[in-house]
Amino acid sequence: MDDVIVVGAGPTGLTAAVDLARRGVSVRVLDGLDGPHRGSRGKGMQPRTLELLDQLGVADRLVSLGVFDLPFRHHRADGTVRDTPRNPDLDAATADPTTPWRTSMLIPQWRTEQVLRERLAEEGVEVSFGTRVASLSQDEEGVEVVLDDGSRLRSAWLIGADGGSSTVRRQLGVGFLGETHEEVRLLLGDAEIDGLDRDHWHQWAADGPLAGTGAVFFALCPLPATTTWQIQIAHTDPERHATPELLTELVESLGPRVHVRRVEVASDWRLNVRMVDKYQVGRVFLAGDAAHVHSPAGGMGMNTGIGDAINLGWKLAAVVHGADPALLDSYTAERLPVAAHVLGLSGELTGRQFWSRTSEQLRDTRGLGITYRTVSDAGSGPVAGDRAPDAPLVDGSTLFVRRRAADWTVLAFGGVVDGVDAPSDLPGGSVQVLDADALAADGTLREAYGADDGTVVVIRPDGYVWSRSAAAVSV
Ligand SMILES: Cc1cc2nc3c(=O)[nH]c(=O)nc-3n(C[C@H](O)[C@H](O)[C@H](O)COP(=O)(O)OP(=O)(O)OC[C@H]3O[C@@H](n4cnc5c(N)ncnc54)[C@H](O)[C@@H]3O)c2cc1C
Repeated sequence: MDDVIVVGAGPTGLTAAVDLARRGVSVRVLDGLDGPHRGSRGKGMQPRTLELLDQLGVADRLVSLGVFDLPFRHHRADGTVRDTPRNPDLDAATADPTTPWRTSMLIPQWRTEQVLRERLAEEGVEVSFGTRVASLSQDEEGVEVVLDDGSRLRSAWLIGADGGSSTVRRQLGVGFLGETHEEVRLLLGDAEIDGLDRDHWHQWAADGPLAGTGAVFFALCPLPATTTWQIQIAHTDPERHATPELLTELVESLGPRVHVRRVEVASDWRLNVRMVDKYQVGRVFLAGDAAHVHSPAGGMGMNTGIGDAINLGWKLAAVVHGADPALLDSYTAERLPVAAHVLGLSGELTGRQFWSRTSEQLRDTRGLGITYRTVSDAGSGPVAGDRAPDAPLVDGSTLFVRRRAADWTVLAFGGVVDGVDAPSDLPGGSVQVLDADALAADGTLREAYGADDGTVVVIRPDGYVWSRSAAAVSV
């Protein structure tokens, strides 16, 4: 019997599986598809997600395959164009050593999944494609799933990361509360297209060449490190469905020089804004789109799913290794408000042109401000639940890199390190206690943590602050 079965090998399930496997948990990943998903769907990866995936050791690989600076090119009806930066409020000069990535990156979702699968394989785990879960049940000791072919598998715990139409969620009887907006629809596809430069994310409004095509908005985004483009065509017609022929016809209506060589995938999408009211039932958890779906505006769906997986991974690993299962209660408590916020924010952004978004909204999408804080007065530095910032270290590396050496990191400021032990209330995992001032390359570390002499900050395995104390020896 495995410790954990993960249902769904999308970005959420793969992230959870990697995080569990690297923490010594035996994990099995099931996916009903015959092979990897081929669509570029969630192509916007937010900075906080890169930070989270950095701890899994895949951020550098993802960054090498992505692109940060790809301006929008808006094609007006009169044939003129207007270019807009994708990251207008955070341009180059604002390098910040506490935050390695400031802006969102573009990378096709299939590529993100590929990189995660490769990382999972390093842990000795391969995805079992072609294994669709039909039903599940649970008892005091574990969970049993029945596959489509009638065979049964058992595990101590199960994560349902099986997307918006989640079988796991239905089997648990957990409601998916919200609305379906029949009138907000997209034709989607990935295709090889000639006749447009690949240095811009091209967008057209409903006028100009689109007049009469039924499209209300049209976007073609070149996908980095590929020869393909993502096609997004907004429309309102429930009778209209994405086929290679229709996508070709619509794309080629943009101008005589625009030619579609090959459509790789074509799919329909309509807006659902829904979420669950609990993320856990007994030994089963929901994560990612299985727990929340919303508009792609703002590029947050996959990012929120990866955030769920990282929040759950270390807690479930700790419980598998003997920690009190009460630790798992914090998964719902911490992630449900994040999903509710993302549903609201993506709703605000839906239908708004990118350049009309406020700086506050743009920053909000980046995930750097997500906090699990339960106190309102934050004081001078990050407190329990806040993101733990990065800082340069004297050996040329960074705190984020150093954090990979252990599950928990204790930063002791003001030379008090000899009097600091690993806190006794940690729910398992390895701990490193660091002399923060001796390690710091400059004043960034102290400043980022608002630390005084004697401040001790404990950082959780998922990169959030566990505790902060002014006492030199007890944390
Ligand atoms: C046009 C578009 C643009 C988007 N842009 C962004 C963006 O820029 N940024 C962003 O963060 N998000 C974006 N998203 C959203 C993003 O694609 C989703 O949030 C993301 O796919 C969710 O990942 P997941 O792993 O939770 O679920 P999924 O990717 O849906 O994966 C679920 C997996 O579970 C499998 N499965 C389902 N049922 C079963 C079963 N019974 N048994 C076994 N396996 C099963 C499926 O085969 C699938 O592989 C976009 C979405 C769209 C449509």
